[in-house]
Amino acid sequence: MSDTYLNLVNSGFTKKVAKQLGLPQPAPLRRYEPGQPLLQGAALVLGRGPESDALAGFLSSDWDLDVHRHATPGTRYSAVVLALTELTHPDQLSEPVLAAGAVLKELPKGARVVTVSRASRADDAPAVAAARQGVDGLLRSLAKELRGGSTGNGVVLAEDVPVTAPSVLGALRFFLSTKSAFVDGQLLAVDSAAGTLPGDWAAPLAGRVAVVTGAARGIGASIADTLARDGATVVAVDVPAAGEQLVTVANRVRGTALQLDVTADDAGARILEHALQRHGRLDIVVHNAGITRDKLLANMSPDKWDSVLAVNIASQLRINEALLTSGDFTDAPRIVSLASTSGIAGNRGQTNYAASKGGVIGMVRATAPLLEAFGGTANAVAPGFIETEMTARIPAVTRQVARRLNSLQQGGQPVDVAETVAFLASPAAGGVVGRVLRVCGQNMVGA
Ligand code: NAD
Repeated sequence: MSDTYLNLVNSGFTKKVAKQLGLPQPAPLRRYEPGQPLLQGAALVLGRGPESDALAGFLSSDWDLDVHRHATPGTRYSAVVLALTELTHPDQLSEPVLAAGAVLKELPKGARVVTVSRASRADDAPAVAAARQGVDGLLRSLAKELRGGSTGNGVVLAEDVPVTAPSVLGALRFFLSTKSAFVDGQLLAVDSAAGTLPGDWAAPLAGRVAVVTGAARGIGASIADTLARDGATVVAVDVPAAGEQLVTVANRVRGTALQLDVTADDAGARILEHALQRHGRLDIVVHNAGITRDKLLANMSPDKWDSVLAVNIASQLRINEALLTSGDFTDAPRIVSLASTSGIAGNRGQTNYAASKGGVIGMVRATAPLLEAFGGTANAVAPGFIETEMTARIPAVTRQVARRLNSLQQGGQPVDVAETVAFLASPAAGGVVGRVLRVCGQNMVGA
């Protein structure tokens, strides 16, 4: 699906006109391609203390980045990392934050700003909690100020999580990379030191078997492609009516196709049976199949309400139950479920859809602890406006407005959601437990 406006404001005469009129000027986003370096230029790592030093040391020694601890005049930084885990008072924010501010005007297009901080808790000293929570407000505002396709995101560590824990590094790497092109203004919590760093960052899912529901088209097809690119063997699931497209996807990713309505009573058993028989194991389940049946609640038929709840949430609960009680989903398993910003902020005409997607968020929060004993996790991805067949059906004017209402002033691509799913499914995300990560370009609607 193409965005004509974005193409127009980035070419010749129309670019000039748009600028003069003060119209939104979305920048084309750079996306990941295998072999691409993590950063194109130097990284500025700001912040004081042993944890900040440890993080900077890791970035330069293990990821071979050109790390500066102070801004060098004339350098255009591809990334600025604010290592703020040791703050004890809001006064300590000024030095690193203003040092970051001093280099912002010189950032190249598509630069990254990432904060690394600790979660504030009720039993923190008030000044510590104020400093920690202050980082959230700072990051969300800074992300709204960045231009040229640059993004700002944060990693928020629980108290006992070391700054070089696998999921801190995994999340930091994801936010620094082009894989997070449409993730903006988000703070991802790392709850534990669980997880492992992949031997090969180009194939973090090597040896893993993943099931993707709703894989025949749209976001699901892109998730299948991306998990396969990362080394997973993929089982592509969709309804029999989408059989032909499903086989095309399964063949493309050298995986297998399973024709199945996820609302079937025995869907969990059939998924497990297929994965074990054809591939010998099951490690990752991506609940992506979803439908909309929009109506104002005053006009909502029982059929429209029930079908959305059945596909979008009840099926996931039933499948998870079957997997969790099977004894065959126990080797650092991963559940990644598709929520939606509608389930967080609400959307007129979508009470049924938002109930199901809010339900997904509650479900992963309560499911994750059940998987922790096996080194497993359950998390959700909440897309905002993504250019798919689903959003192509929105009336033209509403669609134009909807895709501009975020900090990046454009819709995301299915691959943006897929990259986020792949990160949460990876071994490096083992310490992210029951969370929601939004892929919405920092949508102005909602939290
Ligand atoms: P889509 O309609 O293009 O694709 C959904 C796929 O799910 C289809 O192939 C469909 O056949 C399949 N499916 C539907 N019911 C099924 C069932 N009962 N059993 C098996 N498969 C079934 O949708 P999309 O835009 O790619 O969205 C994918 C997911 O992302 C959905 O959960 C959706 O709610 C969510 N999402 C999308 C957007 C967006 O902007 N497109 C935004 C937020 C969330």
